[in-house]
Amino acid sequence: MALNGRSDARGQPLQRVRHRLLLPLATGLGYYLGAVLGVAASSMSEGIAIFWLPNGILLAALLLAPRRDWPLYLLAAVAAEVAADLPTFTLLQALGFASINLFECLLAALLLQRVARPFTLDRLRHVALFGLVLVFASGLAAFLGASIYSLSVPTTSSFWDFWTIWWLGDGMGVLLVTPLVLGWMQGPSRPIEQRRTLEAAALLALTLLFTIWIFVQGATDSFPRRPFLLFPLPIWAAVRFGLRGAATVVLLIAAIAITATLNDVGPLLAATPADTVLLLQEYLAVLAFSSLALAALLRDLRATHDELDHLNRELEVRVEARTHELQEANRRLEELASIDPLTGASNRRHFMELAKVEISRAKRQGLPLSVIMLDIDFFKSVNDSFGHEAGDEVLVALAAIIHATLRGGDIFARMGGEEFIVMLPGQGLSETFQMAERLRLLIAQNEVPDCPTHITVSAGLAGLENESDEIADLLRRADQGLYRAKNQGRNQVCQGQGPLSDA
Ligand code: GH3
Ligand code: MG
Ligand code: MG
Repeated sequence: MALNGRSDARGQPLQRVRHRLLLPLATGLGYYLGAVLGVAASSMSEGIAIFWLPNGILLAALLLAPRRDWPLYLLAAVAAEVAADLPTFTLLQALGFASINLFECLLAALLLQRVARPFTLDRLRHVALFGLVLVFASGLAAFLGASIYSLSVPTTSSFWDFWTIWWLGDGMGVLLVTPLVLGWMQGPSRPIEQRRTLEAAALLALTLLFTIWIFVQGATDSFPRRPFLLFPLPIWAAVRFGLRGAATVVLLIAAIAITATLNDVGPLLAATPADTVLLLQEYLAVLAFSSLALAALLRDLRATHDELDHLNRELEVRVEARTHELQEANRRLEELASIDPLTGASNRRHFMELAKVEISRAKRQGLPLSVIMLDIDFFKSVNDSFGHEAGDEVLVALAAIIHATLRGGDIFARMGGEEFIVMLPGQGLSETFQMAERLRLLIAQNEVPDCPTHITVSAGLAGLENESDEIADLLRRADQGLYRAKNQGRNQVCQGQGPLSDA
């Protein structure tokens, strides 16, 4: 372990240095190849490239690299520029071009990174800004480049000719290469793009075939092959493969279009070579810029869509939680409105509601129904002797006994003070009497810790007697029974018309 640790400690910095050097070296190599290609694809006798790709490579590298590594990249670019230029230009001229290109790339990178770091080109505003910065930075560099040409190369072309071709050449190079490098270095914008290998192959093959068909045509061809016919291909690429796809397809079309046009073949040949180059540059700029913008726009829309989706899901979860809270609050409110807080029995209001429903059900089904009205005997003296809290305990204990004795469908309520009522749906008077007696005995036997005396209750019974009976009739008759029980000495059960045992 320790040994491994030491070797790691020795190995890692070396690896880091290697990594830090590798990318600048690769950039230098790419820059060199781009420059050689650019010189080969020059249109003017003086040698200004119509597509200057190296700046695109350097700009992409600067946008991707940490700023502390920038000097390495710039150094590699200067070396590559000098190496590529020396066969055609003097060292001084080569160094002059190198510094202009470096200036252009640095300026563009700094401007772009002011708006977004990392600068990804997968947002529409990035693409728009990229276009603006490109026009500005290469336009500015073109002044310096054209000056070197006008001052140091014997030529008949005007300063503005040089300026235009440098400006468009640099701009086009960056437009073609930087999105490509950024796209491929950043990976696919969506994982699904990776799984579309077959479609990608078909797209590339069709692009290759169609572009060759459009650009490599004989002068005698009767069918007019217009370069605009190729527009669906980068659109397809942008929609299905994002920035990487669009940039790749555009580069493929550009490579073929440039090669063909510089060899005087294809539909973009104009009256003069200068017009031809301009037409080619315009065509490719429109193709590249519109497909990049489309890829970015779609990415924007997808991001917005995903964000909305996310917000929606979050909202749903919140609504669900809030609904649950509300339901719980409602349930508690209902409970508060219908339950006596001391004993947990229903309150009078709730009892009256339930009783009405039960009575009409009993009438409908022709079933018996009875009530027991209970009142604690001499409860006032319990309070007086042992205190109100002891009285409360008695109420709670009594309610617990009744609760425990009742069946599922029975209704139990505190009507007020120390008076309780039980409704027994389906029970006739004799069963109800037995139930009342059982309750009376249980209560009489019960002991409450803070109340040293035994508590008794009196009870009055009433049953559903005819169709016209309502809850008020039952309560009145039960109350009569209770009154009689009290009068006859308490701790007993009586029916409205007289003690049941007598009836
Ligand atoms: P009776 O046998 O005739 O029913 O006599 P009683 O003393 O029980 O009758 P009365 O109606 O005069 O007294 C009822 C008492 O119940 C009066 C009141 O102080 C008491 N009381 C009513 N509600 C509560 C309560 O919530 N807690 C307590 N501790 N006492 C209550
Ligand atoms: Mg009482
Ligand atoms: Mg009372």
